[in-house]
Amino acid sequence: MSGRMIVICAPSGTGKSTLLARLKTEIPDLEWSVSCTTRPRRAGEVDGKDYHFIGVDEFKRQIDAGQFIEWAQVHSNYYGTSRRFVDEGLRQGRKMLFDLDVQGADAMKKVYGAAAKVIYIEPPSLEELEKRLRTRATDSDAVIRERVANARKELARKNDYDHLVLNDDVDGAYGKLRDIVQRILT
Ligand code: ADP
Ligand code: 5GP
Repeated sequence: MSGRMIVICAPSGTGKSTLLARLKTEIPDLEWSVSCTTRPRRAGEVDGKDYHFIGVDEFKRQIDAGQFIEWAQVHSNYYGTSRRFVDEGLRQGRKMLFDLDVQGADAMKKVYGAAAKVIYIEPPSLEELEKRLRTRATDSDAVIRERVANARKELARKNDYDHLVLNDDVDGAYGKLRDIVQRILT
């Protein structure tokens, strides 16, 4: 049986984590790729569950050892996807879900082509995205400004992928996302 790969991509602050948390409870056989990151852990995040939180030296050692299928620098931090997770998942026919930025989505498309389906989630506007980041209150003002500037660039890519979902009303957006995921998995 061949594995399935679904990549979810959205500018930071769109509401991706909110939507994915619901997906996780409703489709429990979707296995999440837990990335490595050098970003500091936020309150409430769990090491090994949300990310593997590691230092820059260890991240660079893992790059050199070929342990990432893709890695990228996003908002001044490093993020990378475990090669072993993907290889084993494909071998065992698992349904895998990845939460990546556009660089990661492009890398997965390059390696796996049509076998990796990318769903892009967009915010109603940049103003609304900034408001959501400020309401979430997990990042400093400087970090929020960096994320909004990055979102402007990432949004230019929204039509380049397999599916596009607008996260205006959270329930409506979740319904669309779930339907797309279920279609990909059947
Ligand atoms: P991301 O993972 O994309 O960075 P989050 O899921 O952390 O974003 O959401 C950012 C903030 O926006 C959170 O405070 C969340 O509760 C809120 N949010 C998510 N979706 C919506 C929505 N559709 N309408 C209004 N606020 C939302
Ligand atoms: P955050 O710091 O908000 O958790 O994530 C910032 C961005 O990094 C998000 O767009 C998220 O999708 C992306 N990201 C998380 N893990 C990876 C990864 O392993 N590779 C890449 N390329 N991006 C990642």
